Amino acid sequence: MAVGIRGNNQMRVNSLVNAVILLLLVIFGLFPFQKAFSQFSTTTVAKDDKTDEEKRQEQEYLRIGLERYSWVDTELDKCELKKEESDSGSQSGSGGSASESTSAPIQPSGDLGKDIVDRINENKDVYVEAGEKTNVPWQLLAAVHYREASLKPYNPSNGDGAYGIVSKHYPPKDKLSREEFLQQSIDAGEFLQGKVQSNLSNHRTPLQKENTDPEVIKDTLYSYNGRAGAYAAQAAALGFDPSTQPYEGSPYVMNKFDEKRQNMGIITRDGGSVSGQDTRYGAFTIYSKIAGMSGACGAKETGLKYPPNLGQPNELGYYQMPEPTNDEYKFSGGACPAQRWGSKELVGVIYTVAVNWKNKYPNSRLVVGDLNASGHKSHKWGVAVDITVSDNSAAIIGKTEGSVELGKVFVNTGLIKSIWFDDVNVNNQVKAYADSIGKPIIMESIGGHGTHFHVNIQDQFKGPVSEPGC
Ligand SMILES: [Zn+2]
Repeated sequence: MAVGIRGNNQMRVNSLVNAVILLLLVIFGLFPFQKAFSQFSTTTVAKDDKTDEEKRQEQEYLRIGLERYSWVDTELDKCELKKEESDSGSQSGSGGSASESTSAPIQPSGDLGKDIVDRINENKDVYVEAGEKTNVPWQLLAAVHYREASLKPYNPSNGDGAYGIVSKHYPPKDKLSREEFLQQSIDAGEFLQGKVQSNLSNHRTPLQKENTDPEVIKDTLYSYNGRAGAYAAQAAALGFDPSTQPYEGSPYVMNKFDEKRQNMGIITRDGGSVSGQDTRYGAFTIYSKIAGMSGACGAKETGLKYPPNLGQPNELGYYQMPEPTNDEYKFSGGACPAQRWGSKELVGVIYTVAVNWKNKYPNSRLVVGDLNASGHKSHKWGVAVDITVSDNSAAIIGKTEGSVELGKVFVNTGLIKSIWFDDVNVNNQVKAYADSIGKPIIMESIGGHGTHFHVNIQDQFKGPVSEPGC
């Protein structure tokens, strides 16, 4: 960016920043980055190193004007781009998560850079096919491929293949056929599923190709890269709990995710300490950007899912939460069909949470209470719903763990304004989680909410007053 190739953006970057970034790029280009995985394992983890070919190419990029790194000065564009994407979103949700059409190209995004977006689109059908076969989000395969082989379908000289799997051997090859690349992508999906077992004990749920908990994704990437203790220490230095969120300090996972994680320290030698600076995106950062859930600009972008049998809106523009088609949720006895109407986004949030909750806890179901309904103070603009779960494992005072998890599943939709629940301990944990992923919400203890969550989605989705009885 120091050479002014980005026109107007250039004006917004001050010269000091330029100088620092240029220095980093020079260091990055000259240091022979070695393997960057943990001291714990030397045979089964993926690496963070670069091949000679990549190093050569990067030096070439430096020479031709740093174009490849132009994303570092485009953070300013992120919110505008996110907003455009979500404004043009259709029923399946703008960023799409994994619920979007598998053939649609991902949209060019200024903060990812055209080069990255184009390469992802070139490979997307392979990622999607391998993701289907291994039940891994295709965006996760792309994210790992980005870290390991710069999104190029080739086998680097180290013999570890396009996904950097040290325990396998893939003879160096410049250009993989589709079948070869597909097979490696499937190998990577299976390898990722296996790595889940190295995660923290609360993150060992197998990956699902849709709606996997972002924390499970992060932890799995941390496992994939080798769970280096130095990165847990880095997480602590950044203000995270190193015992529950060690991955937050890993550049392989989180670099460039937010302001405080630009150019994170990276281990540059096997079993070594943090000794370099990473200028690439972390894999979760890439994943979240492709999946449209980075949350860095507020919470409008989502990967919402909608009931497949969603009907037409009524004269007020409200949609009815339909009967479940696949045992995804239940209705509470009090919520008669006339009291199941709300904004389309509210229906989407409820459905998305129901599906994710069922995936996470197959023996529990979301129980949907009143949406717009008489007899409440706030159930009249299509943005509020009362929620319990079928096995009383959450949304009840005393069921702390389940309640926190339920809160997180709501937070992950990105559309929550507030939850009313009368357990301050739960509220603090959910709030901290929401802050940590850049989707802050209000947790309120207002009395009368000890046995259910009252969930408000954001005010922008409010509609006209409607308080139907049964
Ligand atoms: Zn309520």
